[in-house]
Amino acid sequence: MTPPSRENGGAALPLIYDLDLPELSAQLQSWGQPAYRAKQVWQGLYQSLWSKPEDFSNLPKALRDQLAEHFTFSHMEEVQRLYSKDGQTAKALFRLPDGQFIETVLMRYADRRTLCISSQAGCAMGCVFCATGQMGFRRNLSSGEILEQVLVFARELAAEGERPTNVVLMGMGEPFHNYDASMAAIDRLGDPDGFNMGARRFTISTVGLLPAIRRFTKERRQVGLAISLHAATDEARSAMLPINERYPIRDVIQACREYTEATGRRVTFEWALIRDVNDSPEEAARLAKLLQGLNCHVNVIPLNPTQGYPGQRSTRESVSTFRQVLEDAGISCTVRVRRGIDIQAGCGQLAERADGLLNVS
Ligand code: SAH
Ligand code: SF4
Repeated sequence: MTPPSRENGGAALPLIYDLDLPELSAQLQSWGQPAYRAKQVWQGLYQSLWSKPEDFSNLPKALRDQLAEHFTFSHMEEVQRLYSKDGQTAKALFRLPDGQFIETVLMRYADRRTLCISSQAGCAMGCVFCATGQMGFRRNLSSGEILEQVLVFARELAAEGERPTNVVLMGMGEPFHNYDASMAAIDRLGDPDGFNMGARRFTISTVGLLPAIRRFTKERRQVGLAISLHAATDEARSAMLPINERYPIRDVIQACREYTEATGRRVTFEWALIRDVNDSPEEAARLAKLLQGLNCHVNVIPLNPTQGYPGQRSTRESVSTFRQVLEDAGISCTVRVRRGIDIQAGCGQLAERADGLLNVS
């Protein structure tokens, strides 16, 4: 049976988080409200983290009613929550008003509270080992839908006296395929008079969309940049990441060089280690050569299992050898701790499939 949805309710209304402050001001002014009201609403949304119009105790009732009539305060209907056995990773499955699904992950690690958020429902890039890629592209998220994922978890953390410390756009979707909305979400959360989470606390991971990398460089964004590389030759990379046919390795690396030179920032390369596919010492040596002289860091992660890809993760031994070859060549490398695998919250494992909720749309 199809669970109840809000498709005919709040969904028709604009999402209030899709508005930036000038847009919100214009709206309130058009209702004849004094200029200071916009700031009050903004602070209610992004500092007090209020989630419904009734919460806005700083506003007259008539205005609260007007807000409720014209805006929805949520597109995120949480339909499932999973916690990893160690309790450190939480994954939420949300249904959007049009029936699409996205997932968001909270990872606790020492003092870090890292949120992994989605930028699209599904993904058009079709990387063979990625569960999101395997489900195909559904639609872009709006800026408000991207940032509401942060707000949902920020409210929860606030109840424990905490805040998200980092946000990575490494959930479902390719953020550079939804560039404007992704950047708008980051900008909106960065407002010092609002949520006040600086750009440096964000990281965008991209499969290597060249024009967007160049644009990102030109805009001198303070957001961290990570590139999903996974192979050091075009032949091997194209077999896993179809987008490589369009934007080959050499051009992506060149764009990364330009990025590091223009911004003075380091770029991160991600590499899912797959047994006998891209985990040999020779492949590590090729990678080291490719990255020579580039201000970068390599993040390797043993492949996480997904339904549509038969590859296996590398053995502990080959992970360590791979890392050593890079380190010996002067390239810093960390092995990412695999987290939340028991709840399929690991890299590349996010998809709409939730037990018992499969294809409810
Ligand atoms: N679309 C963006 C960000 C989301 S994917 C991108 O591709 O960069 C986040 C990271 O998980 C990427 O580096 C991606 O290559 C990696 N990934 C995808 N599937 C994986 C899997 N099965 N195991 C490990 N990492 C995976
Ligand atoms: Fe999309 Fe990233 Fe998955 Fe590739 S790895 S299919 S770009 S989400």
